[in-house]
Amino acid sequence: MMAKSSNYFRRLLAYLWASPCTLLGLTFALSALVFGASWRKTHGNLEISLAPERRWLKNNIRLRLIQHLPFSAITFGHVIIGKNRKALDYLRAHEQVHVRQYEHWGALFLAAYPASSLLQWLIGKQPYWDNHFERQARQYDELNHAPHAGKTPVDK
Ligand SMILES: [Zn+2]
Repeated sequence: MMAKSSNYFRRLLAYLWASPCTLLGLTFALSALVFGASWRKTHGNLEISLAPERRWLKNNIRLRLIQHLPFSAITFGHVIIGKNRKALDYLRAHEQVHVRQYEHWGALFLAAYPASSLLQWLIGKQPYWDNHFERQARQYDELNHAPHAGKTPVDK
């Protein structure tokens, strides 16, 4: 009983600590939902699929815009925004690592992530692939035996 309530308290603190980033994600999510995106709750996170699910919406300009986004999925606190359901399913384990990073760093993650990319760029490395947080997420994917994970530059 004691361990259970202490775990609950730790989870509550993690949500609170990441909440400024989650609020930012919710702002993007609400804007996307207005334009026809769909949502789903998985593993305590809100997942937003940008692509329209209905067939009659699939050839519109919105879908073409979504296809040109520079990521397949992106995480803000406990909000994960993906181009479509397939991308969200494929990248779920990877994005969950980013959620844990937000829970650890809180709002500082919004500065720490680009700072890591900038540092890599300054020393002549690749800002996305060599970013500390991306390497950590890919390492987790590999440890969890996902043969495809982290092999394509599809997420942020
Ligand atoms: Zn990533």
